[in-house]
This record gives sequence, C-alpha cells and structure tokens, in this order.
Amino acid sequence: MIALEINVTRSSMPPFEEYIQEIADIWESRRLSNAGPKHQLLEEKLREVLGTRGVTLFTNGHQALEAALSLFPPGGEVITTPFTFASTTLAIIRCGLIPRFCDIEPENYTLDPERIEDLIGPKTVAILPVHVYGHVCGHKAIRAVADRHGLRVIYDAAHAFGVTENGVSVGQQGDISMFSFHATKAFHTIEGGCLAFQDESLARRFEAWRNFGIYGCEISELVGPNAKMSEFQAAMGLCNLRHLDEQIALRKDAALCYQELLGGRQGIVLNVGQPGVTSNYAYYPVRFREDEWGESRDQVMERLAAHGIGARKYFYPLTSAFPIFDGTAVDETPIAAGVAEEILCLPMYAGLSRDEVTRICETILKR
Ligand SMILES: *Cc1c(COP(=O)(O)O)cnc(C)c1O
Repeated sequence: MIALEINVTRSSMPPFEEYIQEIADIWESRRLSNAGPKHQLLEEKLREVLGTRGVTLFTNGHQALEAALSLFPPGGEVITTPFTFASTTLAIIRCGLIPRFCDIEPENYTLDPERIEDLIGPKTVAILPVHVYGHVCGHKAIRAVADRHGLRVIYDAAHAFGVTENGVSVGQQGDISMFSFHATKAFHTIEGGCLAFQDESLARRFEAWRNFGIYGCEISELVGPNAKMSEFQAAMGLCNLRHLDEQIALRKDAALCYQELLGGRQGIVLNVGQPGVTSNYAYYPVRFREDEWGESRDQVMERLAAHGIGARKYFYPLTSAFPIFDGTAVDETPIAAGVAEEILCLPMYAGLSRDEVTRICETILKR
C-alpha cells in the first residue's frame, strides 16, 4: 500500500458556508473591486490586529513591496538579505534600485545588524530586512543604524502575520512593513497583501499607486500599476481572520510534535523560538549538518520524496546567486550561503496531524 502523500503546505480554508454567506453581500452590492465595502472592512480590521495607523491592501504582497520601494528615486541602494524569496530582491530591482546583500545571523537567519554599516554608502536609501519564517529581526539594532544614517527601514514581513514580540505586532517595527496574504501563508486572502505603517500621509500615495497612479480624477500622477484587491479576496480575508487563532494553534501542535521527535539530535538544527516572541508557526525549517548528521540536506529531501513527503529547499539558492546577476559583482554572504546548503522546510500547515508528523520524522530518522 502506498501511503498518502503529504505536501509541504496546504491552504487554510474557512467553512464553505461562511464564505458563501460573506460573498452573498457582493451580489447585493454589485461592488466587485475598487475599495468596496469588504475591502474597507478588512483594512479596518487589519489596522486593529496590527496596531498601525495605516494599512493599505494590494492584490498581492509583491506589489505592496514595490509600492513601498517606489518612494525612493531610482539608482539608490537598498541593504537587504539574499536569504529570502525571489520577490524581495526582484522588487528592489524592478523599482530601479540596487540590492546590496548583507549577511544574516546564524541562529535566526535574519539580517545581521552588525554587518549593515559596512555596506552603507552615499547612495544608500533604505534597509529591507526579512522576518524570515516569522523570526523577528533584531529591529532595535537595525533602527539604531538607520537613525544614525537617516535611512528608512522597510520590513518584508511576508512570513510574519500574527507574530508579536512582547504582545506588540511586528507590523509596528520599521517605517513600513509588507505582509503577504498568499494562499500558502498563515493568513491569506487567496492572493493578497498589505502595507502597514504609522505615517498616515502615506496612505493616499499607496492608494493612488495601486490604481494607475490616479489620485481622484482621471489623471495619473504616478506611474503605478493596477494592484487592487478584489472584494472576493477581501471576503476570504474577513473569514480567515475569524479563524486565525485556531489555525495558528493547529500549526503550533504540529511544530511541538516535530520538536519532540527531532529535538536533541546531533546534526539536526531546529529553531525553538525567540524570547518574548509569539510565533505564527508559518514554516518548519530544519538544518541538516552533513558532517554531524552523515547525510546532506538533498539526501534527506530525496528520501522524503521517495516516501511521498514533500519538503522544500526554501531558501536555496540565495537570490544573489540568481542568473539575473550574471556578470555583475554581488556582495558575498558566507553565513547565508552555508545555511542555504543545509536548510529544508518540512511540511507545515494547520491540520497536519500527529500521525503525519510522526511518519515524516520516522522517515528522516531511518537513514
Ligand atoms: C510570499 C512572499 C513574498 C511575496 O508575496 P506574494 O503575496 O506572493 O506576492 C515576498 N517575500 C517573501 C519572503 C515571501 O515569502
């Protein structure tokens, strides 16, 4: 008998009837897009959850990040991490800016605040760290560097919706934070994303940017795309928000089960949490140190695949190793390069059962 496949991720779904009820209003209103009632309500609820004065929705997280980076004149340099999803680096380049790659901390894989200053030069305009896997960046140290040099801090918080530090949402760190609401994220709107910020004057600009740069009448004052979230996406968000806590609790159950079964083994590196941080358990990254474990990350991944278990090399390779940089000098980041060779994201989603986690761990351990 072939055991059922386990995917690396699975989208959270609200009860079917709840979504049907939510979208019934859209048939009444016939407002399908352009900041309709569902969209307005979702922005309001997100301002409450994130505790920021401003929240602007977008059709996806990537467009939200580009909206934030559009604040800087092209040609500027942005200090960022190469240990991230393609979107972070591509958003910088697509906005005409230049990524400067800074190495990461070996424990949490987030941008190392100690190494930022070496990369700051006359063209630096911003720092763009990533709360990778929902791990909270060293935001106080990053803020201190930014203030010394008059730089803006924009967080890629795509992984970190629902994450708090000492009870405060990560969305309140930095000048602007981008959250992704893609189907695979801990909270989703099918496709979607937002910017969260405290300077309310930014809202009008972001709202214009996402709608062809039009501020009110028919005239474009910015070269913006169409990046609006539809009412159907917003309706999914309103439903999923009601279930967020229970979905995160289910993810936590799976994470604790992994920790119990994989913890304390030579050559397997787990992330067991940061002081004061409440996680959203968005991912389950594990490092396999070949010299101690006796097998490479790739070998573990192949055995899992042979047993119908999906795992993902997330993130490998570094974005700085993408062929888009061929021929251009990029900054070296040896710690990130080492982590990228060892990292494997194991299946993680709300509802991943204890039996399934056990099967995954047994497959890993029977090398
Ligand atoms: C998902 C993700 C994005 C992009 O978000 P989309 O909503 O998919 O456009 C950006 N950065 C990181 C780190 C992500 O994981």
